[in-house]
Amino acid sequence: MRLGKISGNGEFTRRCQHFFESRYGFHKCLLTTSCTDALEMAAILLDIKPGDEVIVPSFTFVSTANAFVLRGATILFVDSKQDHPTMDESLIEALITSKTKAIVAVHYGGLGCQMDVIMDIASRYNLFVVEDAAQAIDSFQEGRPLGSFGHLACFSFHETKNIQCGEAGLLVINDPSLVKRAEIIWEKGTDRAAFSRGEIQKYGWKDIGSSFLPSDLSAAFLWAQLENLDCIQSRRKEIWEAYHQFFTHGIELGLLDSGFLHQVRMSVKDLSFTTVSRASEANAHLYFLVFDTGRDRSLALQNLMENEILAVFHYQSLHRSSFAKVHFPGQAEKSLHAADHFSDCLLRLPLFYELPELSKSF
Ligand SMILES: *Cc1c(COP(=O)(O)O)cnc(C)c1O
Repeated sequence: MRLGKISGNGEFTRRCQHFFESRYGFHKCLLTTSCTDALEMAAILLDIKPGDEVIVPSFTFVSTANAFVLRGATILFVDSKQDHPTMDESLIEALITSKTKAIVAVHYGGLGCQMDVIMDIASRYNLFVVEDAAQAIDSFQEGRPLGSFGHLACFSFHETKNIQCGEAGLLVINDPSLVKRAEIIWEKGTDRAAFSRGEIQKYGWKDIGSSFLPSDLSAAFLWAQLENLDCIQSRRKEIWEAYHQFFTHGIELGLLDSGFLHQVRMSVKDLSFTTVSRASEANAHLYFLVFDTGRDRSLALQNLMENEILAVFHYQSLHRSSFAKVHFPGQAEKSLHAADHFSDCLLRLPLFYELPELSKSF
């Protein structure tokens, strides 16, 4: 407030963008009003037009597909892996046609897709890759941060993510040839960003665009979170590990209260489920169990609710949605068994910074 400027592209916006560029080596970062908006910017930037095809996993959030549907694209849905909610890279190539423009890789729960495989396919067919890294801040793959592989990547700072400011997102532009136009789309279709840097005398209408900048108030909140990123991340990883040791070896690490863990144990007793291990480089965004049947998941959810533990399921396969049935009927008829299995059987346990303290009240 004291800086006298709280609209977008101010001091805190620049600090946040610089943080990502320097910490993760992303080529260029633009803070956006949401990850949904970053995805919409990506679709505009890649010149997605009616008739173009975009390959998207079925087990993802609506925005992953909607951003491209808004430009008139046809979505081709990919199944998940049998034992993992991220998309099965081996199924991508069969979906590519002369109309394919882009592949969207979603890093579910901060667990990376196999980016070397996806980038190889993309370069052979001359396609763009957009990483939907909404949940993947501070996650790595073979030492490289997620969000640094694709031509573009999109992050979310919605309050449900590891680092948040209510609502905001980030567009990462790794392909230098896309930077100039990205700034114009970001600033309502004008070259105002260049004007703000003193590079030109006046700014004007150059392209299509929209108001994709968050207020600097949001950026200031986000900056405070980023200053505490390491602390937040290490706490989340500890909580993740506490759950995992408990479920895989019955070991209590002492971080989560015994009473709380006892309630969790009783809630899933006699039900069959598996856990998915965390790649050591992942960001502990989610801890989830995958039940053998939808019935077992419902029972677990109900038991946890009765014990006042809020557990939630996650995405419902997009190819089975009522929207897909109307707009992509051929896709809706596909059977994507793995995606449906995760839609029906996956359950997320509470994982947030204050959980260790709160668990003492059980
Ligand atoms: C949260 C999320 C989004 C949307 O993020 P917003 O910032 O709320 O727009 C998109 N994709 C995935 C995979 C998400 O988890």
